Amino acid sequence: MKKDPLKIYQEKRNFDLTSEPMGGEVGSGNCIFVVQKHAARSLHYDLRLEVDGVLRSWAVPKGPSMDPRQKRLAVETEDHPIEYARFEGTIPEGQYGAGSVIVWDSGTYRNMTERDGRAIPMDEALNNGHAAFWLEGNKLKGGFALTRTQRGWILVKMKDELADSSTDILKAEPRSVKSGRTVEEVGNDL
Ligand code: MN
Repeated sequence: MKKDPLKIYQEKRNFDLTSEPMGGEVGSGNCIFVVQKHAARSLHYDLRLEVDGVLRSWAVPKGPSMDPRQKRLAVETEDHPIEYARFEGTIPEGQYGAGSVIVWDSGTYRNMTERDGRAIPMDEALNNGHAAFWLEGNKLKGGFALTRTQRGWILVKMKDELADSSTDILKAEPRSVKSGRTVEEVGNDL
């Protein structure tokens, strides 16, 4: 584990100004995941997976898809604290990531990464540049893979019985699983 995995997260933010959590909570004991819809300068979705007591994070500009043919670029970002998985609100203008955030999906995941029939721990899988995991979310379900390429990470739905190429889940289910609100509604709070 990194010595101070939240250092970069904390350095980027002024906690007198933003309502985002500072961190300090220990791991949930489960493998939780969250996808936050974030109406920042450009709209994106943040995928976060609990690994070793922090949320490993990727910004996915086009968001996740249930269609295995849709390969989605995922830009790795700084580790976030566990309690960030519950964060919903508006990051003020001038602060890092300014804009509104909703908990678009959340749940748990199971690491499925194997090599030569041997289970690979999640941190090792990510260090190696390939992780496969099963999501038990409210919206996202089934196997997904994250793979590091020369152009960045790629997030893709694996082919299984839960794959679905007929519906755009981002359009079909735009609301927060926490509050039932849209990111636009949260943004109008001020
Ligand atoms: Mn973001």
